[in-house]
Amino acid sequence: MIPVLGGLLGLAIGSFLNVVIHRVPLGLSVVSPASHCPACGAAVRPRHNVPVLGWLLLRGRCFDCHSPISARYPLVEACTGIAFALVGLRFVDSPLALPAYWWFAGLGIALALIDLDVRRLPNVMVLPAYPVLAVLLAITAAPDAQLRALVGAVALFVAFLAIAVAAPGAMGFGDVKLAGVIGAMTAWLSWGTLLVGAFLGFLFGALVGVILIAARRAGRRTAVPFGPFMIIGAWTAILGAGLLGDQYLMLVRL
Ligand SMILES: [Zn+2]
Repeated sequence: MIPVLGGLLGLAIGSFLNVVIHRVPLGLSVVSPASHCPACGAAVRPRHNVPVLGWLLLRGRCFDCHSPISARYPLVEACTGIAFALVGLRFVDSPLALPAYWWFAGLGIALALIDLDVRRLPNVMVLPAYPVLAVLLAITAAPDAQLRALVGAVALFVAFLAIAVAAPGAMGFGDVKLAGVIGAMTAWLSWGTLLVGAFLGFLFGALVGVILIAARRAGRRTAVPFGPFMIIGAWTAILGAGLLGDQYLMLVRL
């Protein structure tokens, strides 16, 4: 039941994330004006504002001026729905953690796409995540996990800060601030999740970087945004790969 409800919630949140992804980099309000066609300015009718279905109903074109509507809108909605359903499955035994991880999922999807679009992780989204997630993790009432989240946030923030200072250009300060959030959300689960999440971020980033250079789509100096890889790495660990990290930590302790 929780995964199904999560999926429906995700579809609705995904619709809002489209607005966030489009407007936040432009410095516009995410609440007003209501959704409208960027080509002709006509307001989106409520029945066409239904996630995914609205776009299908319109066959990807504005009802008024028939200019194409990007397939990215229904894709973001569908992906958010799937992500929220997966979070529901993953935390079915610890429902108190659902609000925090649903928030982190929505934040991650919006930040990854904004970083790909404009190579920026807006402060206006990353910084509020610290107090919001602190409050949402506080309701989990799991003191050990909460302490681990705090230590994980500081540890990953400091590690990324050290890299950013030692190798200027390798990553931006936006990545450093995001690292603190990722440190908290992975470490709340376990130290293994934190280690695997951080490691996979670098691994995915390096793999895609090598592929882009090999395909001559990017030079060695081309800035490939790192934020999306950090987020995908963290979620791969949270949704299961972190267990491998815990196994490894148990092995080395022997
Ligand atoms: Zn239009």
